[in-house]
Amino acid sequence: MCGIIGVSGVPDAARLAYLGLYALQHRGQESAGIVAIDADGTARSHRGMGLVSENFDDGSLAGLPGDVAVGHTRYSTTGSTVLANAQPCSVNTRCGPLAIAHNGNLINAGTIKRDLVARGAIFTGSSDTEVLVHLIARSAGQTVEDQIRDALEQVDGAYSLVITVGRTMYAVIDSRGFRPLVIGRLGEGIVVASETCALDLIGASITCELRPGDFVRIEDGQVTHLPRLSPRPVSRCVFELVYFARPDSTVFGKSVDAVRRELGRQLAREKPAPEGEVVFSVPDSSNAMALGFSEESGIKLEYGLIRNHYVGRTFINPTQALRVAKVKIKFNPVREVIQGKSVVVVDDSLVRGNTSKELVQMIRSAGAREVHLRLGSPPITGPCHYGIDTPTREELIGATHSIEEIREFLGVDSLGYLSLDGMLTAAGKEDTGFCHACFSGHYPTTTPDDLVKLRHASPLIATPA
Ligand code: AMP
Repeated sequence: MCGIIGVSGVPDAARLAYLGLYALQHRGQESAGIVAIDADGTARSHRGMGLVSENFDDGSLAGLPGDVAVGHTRYSTTGSTVLANAQPCSVNTRCGPLAIAHNGNLINAGTIKRDLVARGAIFTGSSDTEVLVHLIARSAGQTVEDQIRDALEQVDGAYSLVITVGRTMYAVIDSRGFRPLVIGRLGEGIVVASETCALDLIGASITCELRPGDFVRIEDGQVTHLPRLSPRPVSRCVFELVYFARPDSTVFGKSVDAVRRELGRQLAREKPAPEGEVVFSVPDSSNAMALGFSEESGIKLEYGLIRNHYVGRTFINPTQALRVAKVKIKFNPVREVIQGKSVVVVDDSLVRGNTSKELVQMIRSAGAREVHLRLGSPPITGPCHYGIDTPTREELIGATHSIEEIREFLGVDSLGYLSLDGMLTAAGKEDTGFCHACFSGHYPTTTPDDLVKLRHASPLIATPA
């Protein structure tokens, strides 16, 4: 998953992009980058591995002059964790410097890449986004807009993109609308971002959320809607609302906080825990769900687990060994809340089960009498092909074990998952088409070609991370 931002027509655009990336840090912590374009159309880039704060300082931002900038925070879902895959991708094309920031996954990138390589194309990294850059640069389209459209017609899957060609910026979302993208205004300028929380931070007012298939040009403080991409059934990623987006954002026209509270309420209706004396969340993604569960059930909400905020999301780490060790660094139980009690723990989802198993052990060692785990989404039974970093089916505990086996593995007294329909209703299925493939197995596209191969492919040129 990734966070993307574009700033156009605002002095010192790179500084604003930098601030916006801070608000989007939760969407990717492997690398961060900004490309800025100055008044002469010269593009300058600064990218690095790690967090936004680790990559930028006054000096690097001073080296990015201009009133147009595009920024990106990444965690890899295709392509390995190396600097060569850090974004924005920036290249020189016949139409001028091109920079592209991509959130999503192209499911046919492997096939296209093989074809391009056979025809002599050179790739510096292994990300699917570079495929798109090649398609744009090679297109026979008359205008830049034709070239972008031509490239997008050849790719399939999930893409929310901010692209700059020269000083002109484009924002576009695939017709299924998997990933969010929002537009705001800041003085005379325009800002585009993955989530509204980034606009809030830089003081931009929210103008509109891009709809699936929207393609806009941003120039001189104007947003021009270009002909939309060919329509497809809308399938917004429900996991954005369940887990990924920040609760202070509005995503797909919905308050993430409000949806999560409703998920918690629905969970309490579907899977009550009458034995529970206190309820608490696994912070932070399920805070609002635990609140909803408490409101509906009448069980008192407490802070039973404290999260260390200086540790990244556990899944971001590539190795299993690191992932397990990090759970303890990340969470600590509050004994006074837990000791001698029957506790209800609310989490948003269960992936491999590792974090939760360790957490349950921690909660028991803090003296819990009973532990009842409630999950604000159904069992995850398949990988996401559209940009969320879920492991292979074999590693997904919900795909390989029954509910009773999972309960036993986690060591909880009871386990309750929210139903698929309950989740979709709480997320607002009446007015939004959702992708729920990772829960239901109903994938809105064909199966990706060699996604796994692409994901673990090394870049042709190894760049020191
Ligand atoms: P586990 O117990 O190992 O299955 O981990 C479950 C935890 O991972 C939950 O608390 C979720 O909030 C979190 N989670 C779910 N999906 C992801 C993801 N794609 N990346 C990082 N963390 C995730």
